Amino acid sequence: MLILVSNDDGVHSQGIRILADALRGMGDVYIIAPDRERSAASHALTLHKPLRLENYGGNIYSVNGTPTDCINLGVNGLLHRKPDLIVSGINRGGNLGDDVTYSGTVSAAFEGTLLGIPSFAISQVADDNYKFETAARFALQLALMIKEQSLPADVLLNVNVPNLDITGIKGIKITRQGKRIYDKNAIIEKVDPRGKKYYWIGGSRLSWEEMEDSDFAAIEQDMISITPLRLDLTEYNAIKSLRNWEATLDEKMKAKVMI
Ligand SMILES: [Mg+2]
Repeated sequence: MLILVSNDDGVHSQGIRILADALRGMGDVYIIAPDRERSAASHALTLHKPLRLENYGGNIYSVNGTPTDCINLGVNGLLHRKPDLIVSGINRGGNLGDDVTYSGTVSAAFEGTLLGIPSFAISQVADDNYKFETAARFALQLALMIKEQSLPADVLLNVNVPNLDITGIKGIKITRQGKRIYDKNAIIEKVDPRGKKYYWIGGSRLSWEEMEDSDFAAIEQDMISITPLRLDLTEYNAIKSLRNWEATLDEKMKAKVMI
């Protein structure tokens, strides 16, 4: 198997090395990751500056770009053939609920899925003292499962692992994306030494809505959460409920109705 490993914490992060080591028994493993931390880079693609690959010996490369750039350069440039699997992580910290839309870790797996390659993202839910070995062991088992059973088309898996030793993990749960509760303390306002205001995003610890089958709930129960995500973001129920807007909007636009 040819396996491409990336992340958004950067090529030098401990999580990506442990992940690559865990997968090495399955085949050829390439690390292609950002040259520095690009957490919360989301699905950004670099279009207005040259990208450069740097080799760190063996199959380890960095890119001066985003996680999405890394997957693109790897699949369409560096690798001699399409990889069989893309794994992104192990991220320092969880990617739960709405946070997946900001996540560079998840976006690397998103990009892999867009390119038609089975992909998953894996994150260790902690702020420090990361037990990456637990996530790495699980990543190998999941990779073997995907190799055997493959993934549904256009679906990627977002995996979050509680920060526990393997014996502390209560089980595995297929979950839905949870929902954060944002509070006004999420933005911290301060004053710099020159008397000008500045702002810091994400200062407070955020809570989430109680939802039995959510990724947050699984983590709270010391279970590994696997959330299947799809590329198609369309809300099909809303297509039906909004359909009656079509004629009204068309009519009003043509009538040049002013407010
Ligand atoms: Mg990160």
